[in-house]
Amino acid sequence: MNVISPANYVIAPPAVTTLPVQGSDKLFPVHRIYCIGRNYAAHAIEMGHDPDREPPFFFLKMPDQVVQPGQDFPYPPKSTDVHHEIELVVALKKGGKNIPLDKALDHVFGYGVGLDMTRRDLQGEAKKLGRPWEIGKAFEDSAPCTALVPAERIGHPAKGAVWLKVNDKTTQEGDLNQMIWKVPEMISYLSDYFTLQPGDLIMSGTPAGVGPVKKGDRLHGHVDGVGDLKLSVD
Ligand code: MN
Repeated sequence: MNVISPANYVIAPPAVTTLPVQGSDKLFPVHRIYCIGRNYAAHAIEMGHDPDREPPFFFLKMPDQVVQPGQDFPYPPKSTDVHHEIELVVALKKGGKNIPLDKALDHVFGYGVGLDMTRRDLQGEAKKLGRPWEIGKAFEDSAPCTALVPAERIGHPAKGAVWLKVNDKTTQEGDLNQMIWKVPEMISYLSDYFTLQPGDLIMSGTPAGVGPVKKGDRLHGHVDGVGDLKLSVD
């Protein structure tokens, strides 16, 4: 690898986005953020879709859209209907193409709790017009996340409660075992279409109960065995 000094760039190179790792002073560098759509049947139904097991589909958020643990979520511009989607986040330590199902979990570094914040009004408009979703999904600060917990410590959670409370009232509730596409399947499937890289995150879909947030709301998300994400809407 070439070592290039800052003086060789025409502008300062962008910083690497990182997430803290629980129990370590080392950081996890974030590469891409893949997000799966409609991965819990009850959520697919609430969004007006058929919950049958059709092939999964993915969209992306950008790494610098991560909100660091402890930071608040700034209400984004150009939307009046911003929704919360609580999700298990999978962090990869190893990349690859055509990763077989039975090797997929060997690629996982650990897990976090994340929010796939969504400008639902803009996403809805894009859907109607057959346009891409970035304007609704991939905006600044659209991916709050906790510190990552290494799989070495907690294993690979495949069941356990996932919930979100807004101002102490439960809005979203589900169980990891309700995922239509399981974590190894998502990794294997993605790796047939993309060359996965160490540092990639996968947001694994949200259970039913998505809804709007407003400035001043306190959000508390939880995934059993992984952790708690707490923030306010600013
Ligand atoms: Mn989502």
